[in-house]
Amino acid sequence: MSSFFRLLFRNHLAAIGAVVIAAILLLVLITPLLPLHDPDVTATADRFKRPFSDGHLLGTDHLGRDLLSRLLYGTRLSLAVGVVAALIAASIGSAIGIIAGYFGGHVDNIIMRGVDMLMAFPYILLALAIVAALGPGLLNALIAVAAVNIPFFARNIRGITVGLASREFIDAARLAGMGHTRIILTELLPNVLPVIIIAMSTTVGWMILETAGLSFLGLGSQPPQADLGSMLGEARSAMISHPTTSIVPGIMIFLIVMSINLLGDGVRDALDPRLRSGALSRPRATTLVDRQGDISAPTDDLLAIQDLHTQFHVGRRIYRAVGGVSLAVKPGECLGVIGESGSGKSVTALSAMGLVASPPGVITGGAVRFKGEDLIGAPYETLRQKRGDRVAYIFQDPLSTLHPLYRIGQQLAEAIQSHHQISRAEAHSRAIQLLQDVRIPNAESRVGNYPHEMSGGMRQRVGIAMALANEPDVIIADEPTTALDVTVQAQILSLLDDLRRDRGLAIIFITHDFGVVAQLCDRIAVMYAGRIVEEGPTRAVLDAPAHPYTGRLIACVPELGGGRRALAAIPGLPPAVDDLPVGCAFAPRCDKAQDKCRTGEVALQGAASHAVRCHFPEEAV
Ligand code: ADP
Ligand code: MG
Repeated sequence: MSSFFRLLFRNHLAAIGAVVIAAILLLVLITPLLPLHDPDVTATADRFKRPFSDGHLLGTDHLGRDLLSRLLYGTRLSLAVGVVAALIAASIGSAIGIIAGYFGGHVDNIIMRGVDMLMAFPYILLALAIVAALGPGLLNALIAVAAVNIPFFARNIRGITVGLASREFIDAARLAGMGHTRIILTELLPNVLPVIIIAMSTTVGWMILETAGLSFLGLGSQPPQADLGSMLGEARSAMISHPTTSIVPGIMIFLIVMSINLLGDGVRDALDPRLRSGALSRPRATTLVDRQGDISAPTDDLLAIQDLHTQFHVGRRIYRAVGGVSLAVKPGECLGVIGESGSGKSVTALSAMGLVASPPGVITGGAVRFKGEDLIGAPYETLRQKRGDRVAYIFQDPLSTLHPLYRIGQQLAEAIQSHHQISRAEAHSRAIQLLQDVRIPNAESRVGNYPHEMSGGMRQRVGIAMALANEPDVIIADEPTTALDVTVQAQILSLLDDLRRDRGLAIIFITHDFGVVAQLCDRIAVMYAGRIVEEGPTRAVLDAPAHPYTGRLIACVPELGGGRRALAAIPGLPPAVDDLPVGCAFAPRCDKAQDKCRTGEVALQGAASHAVRCHFPEEAV
């Protein structure tokens, strides 16, 4: 809750709105206690007194009534009517929307067609018709304004509910045997409530205006009772000769509506969960860089990550997701990066092209050299030109990276056209060619498919085709086969292997699967808690793992046809990266750990071809 207010007041306009509306609310709450004239007592002798005349701070109106007193009582009434109307409209409208969206089918159809009919009337005509039928009066104006706004809430909330009603957690609640009422109240309502509050906070101002409009026309509050609309209406005839009588309520309406709208916008932003974790700003186009000095270690590797440090700064906590990782690939080479989930593989990969979301991500040290050029801290345009063109990514879940509403052919064409100027026809035939390259059968007809019309394996091939679209030099594949079954996985791996041989592609292949690494990679790097603990040629590392962690990891892999044996799980859990132990991060789980391991920094040692970060490496067999 306190974080909500902190976010809200970081937005200065919303803060101003909050202060103004709070001042107005306070004023109207204490109005009955103030030494004011009776707002309804006329004194024709005192007509149209100027502001600041004695006894009447804001002057008097055409019947000699005190303007200040009428203004405060009028504001009280207008605010009350507007807020009550908003509450009624929001409750009834949301209830209708939730019921229609949750039950769907005929219920939805019947309810929403009724709502559509209401919406088809110009709203002010509808309000006038309702007041005409019920008779003028403030209560009837309130009913009219509320009724007119019900469809707005019903439509909005139904849209949200339809999306939620098909989600897994609702299915789970149904499977658990919950009744409809319980599901709606405990599962759905908490999820739509923020939307209802946002919709309300942005429409209250509007409803106050509508009520004032009806009163202005003489259909709302009846004389002598004052509300802001009727004050304006009565002042109309004297607008030229005595402008203060209309300016005073006019300014009040302006202040109320303006401050409520500013506050409403602020509430909307502060309730947005995506903004809550970071600052009140969109993520930057590239990861924030804050590094002291840069390393000038020229290299002839195609892509070299050098001593990279990436952290997440969340509040006062610092998560050291990547703490000094160095990796490099040459053309045609495949490097496997392996490690438990949470060991920092993805963050390392994303840091290379400045793709870690900032806030909260910060690159605090190191360099990423592509053909010698350091990309960390490079201008956005430099990175943009390389992203997807020279260095391409393949991610784990292609369904979430493909746009659901475009045909895959269009998406492939778009990937090419964002870097090269080619005609649509050319892009189309290139898309077909790419699909053939990744061995999708019937490529000519498949280009017209939507992502949901393809199987998981095929979508992943489309993901690879997209990565290949601009013939990149390096592909960074982040667990591309984890979600696939073994047969499809084998096909994808052999496809990547062919591409590497044919095109001299460098591949950084991230996985937690030793089988995959053994099949595809020349070298592997083992990561633990944001650091590389062992690196070397695939065969050497697999046959004679030097780091105890690597050895334990390999021992965890069940062997097909290897007979029954106890699987050696690694005891304990990986350390939290916001609280890393001193010395070797694996020491708490290692049975060979000595005092030495728990004190100083452990350096990567051994031959350049097979290095290990351990004081007591396993003996080579
Ligand atoms: P993996 O090796 O499974 O790909 P990641 O690179 O995704 O692991 O994550 C590395 C570490 O960074 C994890 O411990 C994770 O908790 C942390 N991390 C990732 N994103 C964030 C974030 N936005 N805020 C805080 N910590 C994060
Ligand atoms: Mg990952």
